[in-house]
Formats: sequence, C-alpha cells, structure tokens
Amino acid sequence: MTRPQNLCILGATGSIGLNTLDVAARHPQRFRIFALSANERIDELAQLCQRHEPRYAVVAQAAQADALARRVKPGVTEILIGQQGLERIAAHEETDCVMAAIVGAAGLVPTLAAARAGKKLLLANKEALVMAGPIFMHAVRTHHATLLPIDSEHNAVFQCLPDSFRGDLGGHGVRRVLLTASGGPFRNTPLERLRHVTPDEACAHPNWVMGRKISVDSATMMNKALEIIEAHWLFGAAPEQIEVVVHPQSVVHSMVEYADGSVIAQLGNPDMRTPIAHALAYPERIEAGVGALDLFRIGQLDFVAPDFERFPALRLGYRALREGGTSPATLNAANEVAVSAFLDGRLPFLAITAVIEAVMDELGPRPLAGLDDVLGADAAARRQAGMQVGAMTV
Ligand code: NAD
Ligand code: MG
Repeated sequence: MTRPQNLCILGATGSIGLNTLDVAARHPQRFRIFALSANERIDELAQLCQRHEPRYAVVAQAAQADALARRVKPGVTEILIGQQGLERIAAHEETDCVMAAIVGAAGLVPTLAAARAGKKLLLANKEALVMAGPIFMHAVRTHHATLLPIDSEHNAVFQCLPDSFRGDLGGHGVRRVLLTASGGPFRNTPLERLRHVTPDEACAHPNWVMGRKISVDSATMMNKALEIIEAHWLFGAAPEQIEVVVHPQSVVHSMVEYADGSVIAQLGNPDMRTPIAHALAYPERIEAGVGALDLFRIGQLDFVAPDFERFPALRLGYRALREGGTSPATLNAANEVAVSAFLDGRLPFLAITAVIEAVMDELGPRPLAGLDDVLGADAAARRQAGMQVGAMTV
C-alpha cells in the first residue's frame, strides 16, 4: 500500500474544513493531516491540533501563535503566521492535496499558490476563482494542478461529464449546464417582509448548514451568481449555456444536458461530505458518513424557474460574467463588504444587491492582465462599497 496523502486544509475550523476532517479521519490509511489553518477560532484549532497532530498550523497573528504554542505538543506541530504561512503550507513539497476552504477573497493568494505548486486542489473557495478566473485557470494548466470542485453543484456537473472531459463542452456534445439552487430561506417570503429580515433569519438555510457569509449569499442568491461564474471557468461554459433551476429539495445537485437530449443528474442527500469524499478519493469512491438517499421519504422533486425580480443578484452574476475583466472581482468584493455590513446590522437585507450594483456601475469593467489587476479591483470595490454602505446605513 502507498503512503497516506498529506492533506493541507486552508480554513480548517470552518464548515467545509470540519467536514473535510470528518471524512479524512474515517480513512487514516489514505490521508494524513499535514497542515491546518484558522483565522480567529484558536481554541478550535488547538483542539484539532491535539487530535490530528499536523506538522504545521497557521494562524493570522503573532499573539495567536503564542496562545496556540502553549496548547500543542512541542516538536510535533510547527506554528506559522499569516499569508506567508498559508502560502508555505499550500505549496509545501510534502503537501499532496490542498483543501481550499477559506471564505472570501482572503483565500485567493494561498489557493493560487497551491495551483502554482501543481497540487491536487480541492476548491471550495469559489470567490478565488470568481475574482481571478483566467489567472487561476492558467496557473492550473501551466503547473498541471488537478482541480476538483467541492461546491456541490460543480462537483455534480463534474460527475455528470465524461472522464475524458478537458474543458471543451461542445467537443463532448454538451448543450447546457443546469445549476440547481434551493432558492434559500426567502424563496416565498412576501417581498415586503424582506425589508426587515435579520441576519439570523438570513442564515437559517432550509437544507444546508454553512458558514454565515455563504448563508447570506444563498438568501440573496448571490451564491448562485458566483456559481454561474465559477461554472464558466471550471467547465468553459458560455453564459447562455448556464441555466439556473430552482429545486427546493436540494437533492439533485446539478445536471448536464447533451446534444442528443439526454440529461444526466447527480443526486444525494444535502451533505457536503459527499462532494468532499468524491474529490478526496477521486477517481475512487470512499465512505463519507452520509446516509442512503431515501427517495420514498422525499417523494417528490420540484423544479421552478428563478425569479430575477426577487433575486437581482442573479442578473448581476450574468452581467459580471458578460462584462468580463475585473467585473467579477468587483462584484465579489462589493458583495463581501455589503454582506459583512448586513451581518453587523449596518445594512438592510435588500440593500445588499443595491450596493453591489451601484459599485459595478461606478467602477465598470477594466482589463485583467495579472494578479495586481485583481487585487487593485478588489481594493477599489471595497472602498466604493464602503462609501455606498455609509450612504445607506440603517
Ligand atoms: P466558514 O465561515 O464556516 O469557514 C471559513 C474558514 O476560513 C474558517 O476556518 C476561517 O478561520 C477561515 N478564514 C476566514 N477568514 C479568513 C482570513 N481572512 N484569513 C484566513 N482564514 C480565514 O465558511 P464555509 O461555509 O466553510 O465556506 C468556506 C468556503 O467554501 C467559502 O468560499 C464558501 O463559499 C465555500 N462553500 C461552502 C459550502 C458549505 O456548505 N459551507 C458549500 C459550498 C462552498
Ligand atoms: Mg453551491
């Protein structure tokens, strides 16, 4: 038997990070926890270090490193700090596989470092791909990284494409990619009520348990907007080849429609351990701790067209993709600022997409030649969104 794969988890204390550890720990002969990172939850990271004994742990600040050092076994876990530490574990020569599960733009540089080091890269951090699509995919191709999608929809699409797929949908007779969406907690909420929804209401997703930022993105459907852009870069799908299908049960995770009329779908319980296990073991299949799908209990699967009036974020997603250049990075950064203001009680729910649209109108698309353009667009959009939030503050 070959040695276990060394696993590096960027964002180990989050929802995806913990689910990854849950799956990996079921297969100690396959995976060794080599490196873990956390931003704020140092207590949780200390517990994870005691349980998994990684070679490296990365924290954001020097003070956290001191606090963690007192709680890990000396000589077992080395503690690194900040962005440099993240890049080091992502690109470390002994790292075999990187789970990119930091939320938001903060994940871009370390995720890109993993791609540039040619790693097996499990991508949950969709924001990195949205911001820097062409640069990211160029790095994956040039350095022969193996990119596997963790987002349940994209993992489903990946599973519905032929094994020989190399980024050319037309060449494989694919007509459309059908991305399913639950519609979030406010699919049927009276529009008048949406003015007053609280962060806790927005984070109470009907089918999935996730971090707070992606939960708000699901409530505005900005999550699906980001996923449209993600599907474009992962599969080479043109905007008109990507259709959003609202499917409230979250059992069909996405579908691929072929030229002969066949539609292939991937189904499963809404549990992120399924796509995580799929990508961890790819091309093999392993136990994920997920129960059998009980179709008799589910009984019925519904599909409805998305409501672009209720969810203007969807329109913004297609707009950013069509505009290209820095537009997706602008959309993403403005969204992060607006969502964080909403979660802090500084911005009403309906103003989230209004802020993003105003920022996109103001900044417009610019050419994207390198990472500096991405980071520049991100910073400009954050400044502009901050001003918009200030003007709209409750
Ligand atoms: P989360 O908020 O639960 O966890 C985020 C992780 O990132 C934590 O470990 C945190 O310490 C780390 N982090 C946050 N800010 C950081 C910073 N500035 N620097 C370094 N580390 C930082 O988020 P999550 O729900 O696990 O989502 C993670 C990513 O996976 C997101 O990009 C999300 O869109 C994507 N995703 C999540 C799910 C899900 O079910 N949770 C599904 C699909 C895709
Ligand atoms: Mg998803």
